[in-house]
Amino acid sequence: MIDNTLLITVLPFIVLAFLLGAYIGRTKSKKERSSSSYTLKSDYFKGLNYLLNEQTDKAIDVFIGLLEVGDETFETHISLGNLYRQRGEVDQAIKVHQNVISKPSLSINKRNDALYELARDYMHAGLLDRAENLFQELLEKQSHIQPALKYLLSIYQQEHDWDAAILIAKKLEAASNQLFSKQIAHFYCELALIEKKKGNTTAALKLVKKALGTDKQAARASIIEGQIEQQSGNFKEASRAFRRVEQQDALLISEVMDSLLQCYKELENGKEITSYLEHILDNYGGITSVLLYAEQIRLSSGNKAAALFVVESLRRKPSIRGLNYLIDISLDFTKGTAHKNLLILQEITSKLLDDKPVYKCTQCGFKGNSLFWHCPSCKSWSSIKPIQGIEGE
Ligand SMILES: [Zn+2]
Repeated sequence: MIDNTLLITVLPFIVLAFLLGAYIGRTKSKKERSSSSYTLKSDYFKGLNYLLNEQTDKAIDVFIGLLEVGDETFETHISLGNLYRQRGEVDQAIKVHQNVISKPSLSINKRNDALYELARDYMHAGLLDRAENLFQELLEKQSHIQPALKYLLSIYQQEHDWDAAILIAKKLEAASNQLFSKQIAHFYCELALIEKKKGNTTAALKLVKKALGTDKQAARASIIEGQIEQQSGNFKEASRAFRRVEQQDALLISEVMDSLLQCYKELENGKEITSYLEHILDNYGGITSVLLYAEQIRLSSGNKAAALFVVESLRRKPSIRGLNYLIDISLDFTKGTAHKNLLILQEITSKLLDDKPVYKCTQCGFKGNSLFWHCPSCKSWSSIKPIQGIEGE
């Protein structure tokens, strides 16, 4: 007796096998039927037997042999290959689609359809070079243009071939009437980072400008520009770049606030530090600005004054990071049992912070402790943001 799991696994193929059987019966002439019926029946049941025994590699050879690839059977062959791919049996899918392509009598359009499916098989198998060649071939033939461009864009991103990704994204924009400026700006940023790593700051800054020219909302480009200028000692230019982030993506202010204050310090612009922090506190809030402002108070007026400011802020907006900071500075002016209790509380809040992710993808919910510009889970660009609320920013 066949168990349920096995039946579920092979059922789609059995359905297909019956369709093949019905097709053979329908298309063969009376004369052909009588002369070849024994061989066909024998092969057909042999194939079915292989399927029931989960020997799909042998079954595939039998079924491919049963049906010649022609205009009427083309879709059946393509569907069989796609079925294998969907089940994760990519080797079998490749075998079926390659068999279709090998037929010289195939029309140009049908051959292109089969090429496209074979390229998708290669993508699923992780054979990116082969997939790339076939998708490029389809582009040359002006066939399956939009999906081929989308797959190529995915391939070049996986291979970190950012120049090729820019080229393809621009073609995709033209072919689909969709904007890819956000992605293209990130590709320029990736290239800028490569130049920055090599120490080619001029080339890196040029690429950053290209990113901003493509997408003026590209906060990442401003952050890279600020970092390059800060490292080069150009604090005025760096502060301008970091300040731009507020207009581009307010959720990323916490990413540049510290660096921006460092630049103002280098420029000995104490007034700007205070007015900037007050501006951020009034307009956006966020625990990073609260703690940086508290640090300013602590340096000028001492721990007690800073603690009072943090307490007021925590009443309005509770935050574990804020509580942790409050405990930290309160330890300096407490003694005895109160001091010991604070130490216990500090251990608890520190542990709470250690276990918590800082960033979350707004598209798929992926959480982590690093700001990825390209979500490792859903592959969206700019979708990961600092977590807001009591446990986050
Ligand atoms: Zn995601």
